[in-house]
Amino acid sequence: MAEDLAAGAGGADATERYDALVVGAGTAGTYFAWRLAREGFSIAVLDKDKRPEIGRRLDIFHLDSIRFAEFGVPEPGPDDEELVAVHACGKAHSPTGKVAKLAEYGFHVMRFPLFLRRLHGMAEEAGARIMDGCAFREPLMKGGKLAGVRAERGGREVELRARLTVDASGVAAALRTSLPDSMGLETFRPGPDDLLYVVLRYIRWKEPRALHPHGLNLWPLHKVFCNPSFSEDEAILGVGQPGSYENAEEALRDFLQGTPFPPFEVVKTEKGVTPYRRPPFSLAGDGFLCLGDAACITKPFSGEGVTAAWTLCSIAAEEVARALRSGEGVLSRRDMWDINTRYFREQGAKFAGMLAQLSGAAGISAEEMEYLFEKDIIFNSRDITAVNRDYELRLSPWGSARVAGWMAWGLFTRSFSAKSLRGLLGSLAVSERIARHYRAYPADPDGFEPWRERALRLWRTASS
Ligand SMILES: Cc1cc2nc3c(=O)[nH]c(=O)nc-3n(C[C@H](O)[C@H](O)[C@H](O)COP(=O)(O)OP(=O)(O)OC[C@H]3O[C@@H](n4cnc5c(N)ncnc54)[C@H](O)[C@@H]3O)c2cc1C
Repeated sequence: MAEDLAAGAGGADATERYDALVVGAGTAGTYFAWRLAREGFSIAVLDKDKRPEIGRRLDIFHLDSIRFAEFGVPEPGPDDEELVAVHACGKAHSPTGKVAKLAEYGFHVMRFPLFLRRLHGMAEEAGARIMDGCAFREPLMKGGKLAGVRAERGGREVELRARLTVDASGVAAALRTSLPDSMGLETFRPGPDDLLYVVLRYIRWKEPRALHPHGLNLWPLHKVFCNPSFSEDEAILGVGQPGSYENAEEALRDFLQGTPFPPFEVVKTEKGVTPYRRPPFSLAGDGFLCLGDAACITKPFSGEGVTAAWTLCSIAAEEVARALRSGEGVLSRRDMWDINTRYFREQGAKFAGMLAQLSGAAGISAEEMEYLFEKDIIFNSRDITAVNRDYELRLSPWGSARVAGWMAWGLFTRSFSAKSLRGLLGSLAVSERIARHYRAYPADPDGFEPWRERALRLWRTASS
């Protein structure tokens, strides 16, 4: 780590200065850069990969159709190579495959590298500079604050200085994990249980079309999904499990043994990890902000992170623009505190509550989940649609009474065990407490320490 360097010192070949500097030209860093560049600020985005390689780790991805308008990103045109298809709804299936619930929720199937290339173009047109083949090496500190980075480009060392330096380097969180303890930020690297290991099999059907699953399909018990691919004769059969790729492969094997599924051949396989843990309690530090996978902002129920991160990026772009305009020098944690408050009180609270709930749901057996599907409890069209669209369930008093009635009936008929019910109710209670705590995120950094201590206690309860 380079400490308290005077401008131009330290042996670097060149020093450049920006209002904001972003490490990582993925969907989070590029979207943030686009939003800030539109406001007239000077912003540079560096990525270790060369242009054609950026975003190559994924071929096809899925994006909720309603999010284009929500985040001001134009939809791809019908003839754009970037767009594969648009579907109006998806389905969730019970473990036996006998019951399916419709999620009335449209989504776009798109080519990830082409979509990212379009985002790069938008950011550059707005004035952002994208520096490809430029790898972050170490943070530059000045007076205990982050003042930029030292990076390597084409075998040469460069110093890049900025009033704000953003980590959007994905799950590696290259910058956040190399910050000094004195900044008081969480520098953890996600361990195996903090990651969803995702395996995607691009498959070709062997039988006629009528028998294939169409659109977006999810089997929640195994966390297996079957989504559209390039043509009607193909699909993406995927699975995501915490812990290891072996866990993911095993879940897929179990699924294929126990669930009716049409025969297929595998065309190619993709693998990757996505964060599956709570974000750092503060996203901002002196001169520092983290976004996207580097900040563990993914939907807890699917691991998807593109538009989940844009919620935070939008808030951050507004607050950073305000702070850059109203002062001089490196932005402080206090200058950016409203990013924490606005994010954690809304989407952050919903995601935290859902994440805490998942541990209770993990103990449910196949028979018990089948019962929930049959009786329309949690796994019903309205709730599945609401989770995808609003990231929360809102049970009316009548709805809660109905669920309680069916759960009591499940116990009586032995369709549901007392142990699973206790686990489910316990996780619901702690998840509500966690969500409530996040909704009360402190408005001021002075209230952070007691809030953080209670949050730690609640998360310990959730994982016990
Ligand atoms: C198999 C799989 C399928 C997925 N499918 C979907 C989906 O369908 N829909 C969805 O919403 N989400 C999906 N996700 C999740 C989604 O891909 C991520 O949440 C999202 O791409 C994160 O964006 P990001 O910008 O934070 O990080 P990234 O996209 O990982 O971008 C980080 C960038 O930082 C660069 N970088 C890293 N280290 C350095 C360094 N030292 N110096 C300079 N640059 C560096 C990298 O080269 C990279 O370009 C999927 C994830 C996986 C693994």
